[in-house]
Amino acid sequence: MRRLLLIAMLFACTTVLAQETENVILITLDGLRWQEVYNGADSLLVNDSGYVGDPEELVREYWDNDPLKRREMLLPFFWNTIAKDGQLYGNRKYGNKADCSNQRWFSYPGYSEILCGFADDENITSNDKINNSNTTFLENLNKQREYKNKVAAFGSWDVFPFIINEDRSGIYVNAGFKKAKENLTEKETFLNKIQDEIRGPWGTVRLDVFTHHYALEELKKNKPRVVYISYGETDDYAHDGDYDQYLKSATQTDAYIKELWNFVQSDEQYKNKTTFIITTDHGRGTHPKETWKHHGKQIKGGGQIWIAILGPDTPALGEVKQEGQLYQNQVAATVLAALGMKYDQPKAGKAIEGAFETAKK
Ligand SMILES: [Zn+2]
Repeated sequence: MRRLLLIAMLFACTTVLAQETENVILITLDGLRWQEVYNGADSLLVNDSGYVGDPEELVREYWDNDPLKRREMLLPFFWNTIAKDGQLYGNRKYGNKADCSNQRWFSYPGYSEILCGFADDENITSNDKINNSNTTFLENLNKQREYKNKVAAFGSWDVFPFIINEDRSGIYVNAGFKKAKENLTEKETFLNKIQDEIRGPWGTVRLDVFTHHYALEELKKNKPRVVYISYGETDDYAHDGDYDQYLKSATQTDAYIKELWNFVQSDEQYKNKTTFIITTDHGRGTHPKETWKHHGKQIKGGGQIWIAILGPDTPALGEVKQEGQLYQNQVAATVLAALGMKYDQPKAGKAIEGAFETAKK
């Protein structure tokens, strides 16, 4: 009898399955093409003086004949760390595809699909500041006791409070030109001040430096468990036809992600317990005369995206080179799966298979 009990106990011990991840940071780079993620600077654009202020400088900074070197020059954290320890999906050269399931291919529909887990082409028809009638996974989590008030969102674009429906969800959304509030740290006070002084080129999108540092400060100050950070510059510089700034922003955002990663790996709550999921809201065109600047249903390639994952439960597959098809509507369930949960939303796409292994404790 005792022996049986012992066996039963051993069995119980080895089958208690648990994941290490307790926190998730979901990150998006607005309209950064998979073409640059996987091949680096585009040969058709990198020295086009119509789109680049100083072609010679840009070529020096971003060009190598080998696309594998080029992409590392553009996104060193992606290709030195995520490619080694995480997973990268969406290199269509290998038939590994990731696409929007919405058929609009612009920002509000893309972000809503990412955050809610399903497309809603019927109701989401513009980027207007209309409160989302759908519920995001952030709102879903914020209703759970364990995550209540431990969910936060930061974005450069001022439409996020509507996409996340801040009024209804009660989630803290610092987006557009919003400032940090309550119990300000010294850094937040300074960010609030200089955000008024550094206007940036756009009226509805702030420079990513503010979004990034407000988010990083929140991680340090309030230790949220689930954070969404949306960087916006890549898309706006592309719309403006500034290919050099588009690349430089991509590189800077890669450095921001590295800074976030280094922070979480140095912090007791987050260290080895935090998963990063990184993606984009839409693709863009590929034609060097004009369509690369744009996206939307009329632009071929506008619905093509990519997805990256890095964290303690993620098998190190690196760049996934098998044929496959992922959709943007899988991101929400994947975030929940990272936290060891099923997303309670029947319309949502399934969590990405193979993104997490359940460690035996
Ligand atoms: Zn755009």
